[in-house]
Amino acid sequence: DAEIPEDHPRHDSLVTRHRIEDGVDRGITSRQGLIAQGRGEAFDYLLGERTIPSADDAERAAAAALLLADHPVLSVNGNVAALVPGELVELADAVDADLEVNLFNRTEERMAAIADYLREHGAEEVKGLAADARIPGLSHERGKVDRDGIYEADVVLVPLEDGDRAEALGEMDKTEIVIDLNPLSRSAQVASIPIVDNAVRAVPGITAHAHDLADADAATLREIVDEFDADAALAAAEDAIRGGEME
Ligand code: ATP
Ligand code: MG
Repeated sequence: DAEIPEDHPRHDSLVTRHRIEDGVDRGITSRQGLIAQGRGEAFDYLLGERTIPSADDAERAAAAALLLADHPVLSVNGNVAALVPGELVELADAVDADLEVNLFNRTEERMAAIADYLREHGAEEVKGLAADARIPGLSHERGKVDRDGIYEADVVLVPLEDGDRAEALGEMDKTEIVIDLNPLSRSAQVASIPIVDNAVRAVPGITAHAHDLADADAATLREIVDEFDADAALAAAEDAIRGGEME
């Protein structure tokens, strides 16, 4: 990080890219994760590398849904683990959620490397290694989850989930919160709460709202969730990308 001058116009984007490269070197991020990062960068560029107002609303709704949940779980893959390990632990603490490693291309080595990396950043318990339940509608390997984690969760945060799995999770009668910079992605389209923002900004953004809402009563939280309009949020993000006036 130190090699990139603070005043470089693409400073944040370059720091983010280096974290993904470092994640690959550590065995946390897959090579496919590099490609996902590239797609994300393109959309972030078009959004102006900022949290648009509709995404901030989505982050507030996500915080409210996580605080209302009986059993919230934050799903962690190789990209978010490399990008925001400490911030994920802080969010889990703020909303009392479990962290579960959940990989598209699952290998035991990467599962263990990610769990260790989260523990290095303060996580106490990391789920995902039991893999004693399956998401219905997915092939054996791709559907593996923990029974007392994602399988039984009522609210799940899935940053950068692949479209198929986001769809299968959505059919499981959960509140699904997706962080994805592409508003046209199937993952964003099937989410109950799509957050069109970079995970680097969105995760701490949700945490800030969770702290802000820590003393709110259930009725207030419920109202924030109910007022959130997923289709309007996706339309606002697409408009922002096209250079429109809504945002
Ligand atoms: P679909 O959802 O249409 O089936 P996909 O999920 O199979 O597509 P991927 O390339 O695996 O396609 O998806 C990666 C997604 O993650 C892209 O939509 C990309 O914009 C998004 N993404 C990548 N990096 C980030 C990031 N740091 N924050 C948020 N979203 C990101
Ligand atoms: Mg997707």
